[in-house]
Amino acid sequence: MRFSKSFFPTIKEIPSDAVIPSHQLMIRSGMIKPLGAGIYSFLPLGYRVFQKIMNIIREEMNSIGGQEFHLPGLNPIELWQETGRVESFGDIMFHVKNRQLILAPTHEEVITSIAKSHIRSYKELPQIWYQIQTKFRNEPRPKSGVIRSRQFIMKDSYSLDTSFETLNTSYNLHSEAYKKIYDRSGLKYFIIGASSGAMGGSGSQEFMIESNAGEDTIVVCDKCNYASNLEIATSNKQKIKFENISSKTEKVFTPNVKTIDQLAQFLKVPVEQCAKSVVYITDKNPILILMQGNDQVNEAKLLTLLGTEFRVSTDEELVEIFGAETGSLGPVGVSKNVKVICDNQLRDAKNVITGANLNDFHLMHVDLLRDSRIDAYADIRVVEENEPCISCGNSLRLIKGIEVGHIFKLGTKYSVALKANYLDESGNENPIVMGSYGIGIERIAACYIEQNYDENGIIWNKALTPYDLHLIAVNMKSEKVIESSNKIYEELSKRYSVIFDDRSQVTAGVKFKDADLLGIPIQIIVGERNLDNNSVEIKLRRSGERKIIKLEALQTEIEKLNE
Ligand code: ATP
Ligand code: MG
Repeated sequence: MRFSKSFFPTIKEIPSDAVIPSHQLMIRSGMIKPLGAGIYSFLPLGYRVFQKIMNIIREEMNSIGGQEFHLPGLNPIELWQETGRVESFGDIMFHVKNRQLILAPTHEEVITSIAKSHIRSYKELPQIWYQIQTKFRNEPRPKSGVIRSRQFIMKDSYSLDTSFETLNTSYNLHSEAYKKIYDRSGLKYFIIGASSGAMGGSGSQEFMIESNAGEDTIVVCDKCNYASNLEIATSNKQKIKFENISSKTEKVFTPNVKTIDQLAQFLKVPVEQCAKSVVYITDKNPILILMQGNDQVNEAKLLTLLGTEFRVSTDEELVEIFGAETGSLGPVGVSKNVKVICDNQLRDAKNVITGANLNDFHLMHVDLLRDSRIDAYADIRVVEENEPCISCGNSLRLIKGIEVGHIFKLGTKYSVALKANYLDESGNENPIVMGSYGIGIERIAACYIEQNYDENGIIWNKALTPYDLHLIAVNMKSEKVIESSNKIYEELSKRYSVIFDDRSQVTAGVKFKDADLLGIPIQIIVGERNLDNNSVEIKLRRSGERKIIKLEALQTEIEKLNE
């Protein structure tokens, strides 16, 4: 590709609204162009990279027996009403105004409806179906460029099995394929246990890259390699020994005490002796959560526990249900329709302090078992930095990460909802057991750049680079340079994809800067001085290493570098 005839709109200035390096560099190198919040056009250079990623994914999906589909982005809303996901996606889902259509954020429903129509017998299973296709999600805060956009390409695949046992096989095949995809792409990644969230299901893992630009918090142990999304992470935080006394509860006046810290200070007790009450509302009933001290409620754990959506209560609701405001709430004496869930740290706690459900009053000496009704105990707390690792006791670290892929064991949630059944060997009808697996295409490219750039631009590897070689004619006024670089371009183009910077209006300096910005791994620089010695210069983008190579040795040298 001749630069003079191409569309490579490079930009010198850093775009003002792009904060993270990959976002800046993808715009500056002319890979993408923003059209609106979270909406991007893919320009030729960017689309070449995305296509390379798609090809790697396609090869690995085919190698585990995946069959490629292409499903519609426009879906009838009824299908999504049947699984209840119009509600669970909420505002994230794009609706087509005045029509019974939505723009699909994922494709479990369509896949399951196809399986329902065509899969009859266990003999037709297992199946792995995949597609590489555009998804639409009205992300509330689209940012970080194509890492979180409102329209993006995803490889999504779905496994259909007869049992959870064979689902494990399909799931493991995907896990192996995903590792190969990230290895081949050159991403440094790690795998963590993750929450299944609104997708439902029985197990899931995320493939993450460490990055300060990430929105996920990951809990890692540097000693035993425990790694988990904060959403499901647990720790071995020791429970305190509660005094075994059973003096009667005592109501105490605690004026203007609103927080746990204020309460502990006011009553001169350790923070751990205080039980905080947090209230959520589901469509069935209010839920009072009891947490120890300043422990935070982990809403992802709560979602998995409740299996239904919830929201934080309003101040008015609190007064109506408990007769008191936040800061004075507690479990003692609450009405039957309030479900009380207690975090495991407070299991069987005695002599704790809770709100009295009366403004400015607290109860001391509460024995949770004796004085209140606890409907369930569960681990619903957020793990904190430096707590002991659940498997080895070493101090845990919290880091930021970006999810590049997610694999789920869905189970039968969708097949039951849409009645996608198969007949087993005895002729009984069973729901198909499903898995769902996703990888974001643009996100892989952006995450690769997050891990491979310097102050001058992107540093591509062989697998993802939009072109193999970047040939630079230093001076297009010199007949010798024009003639030689044209000849080299023709020769190398027989075997490689080559950008040939043959522009005559720009200086050599501009060409060198653009070459570094674009980040093609090998630059070949054709200048008058080296040509006098029948040579050209090669510059390796990653190391900056330069070599002078005789013209007759150029092909062999390039072959060697491309091995
Ligand atoms: P996130 O937590 O980052 O929103 P998710 O859990 O919603 O991701 P999945 O539904 O599992 O993501 O989608 C599978 C993959 O699709 C993700 O691993 C990611 O690579 C990609 N992806 C998801 N949302 C977006 C988005 N808004 N923009 C670009 N890629 C996305
Ligand atoms: Mg999301």
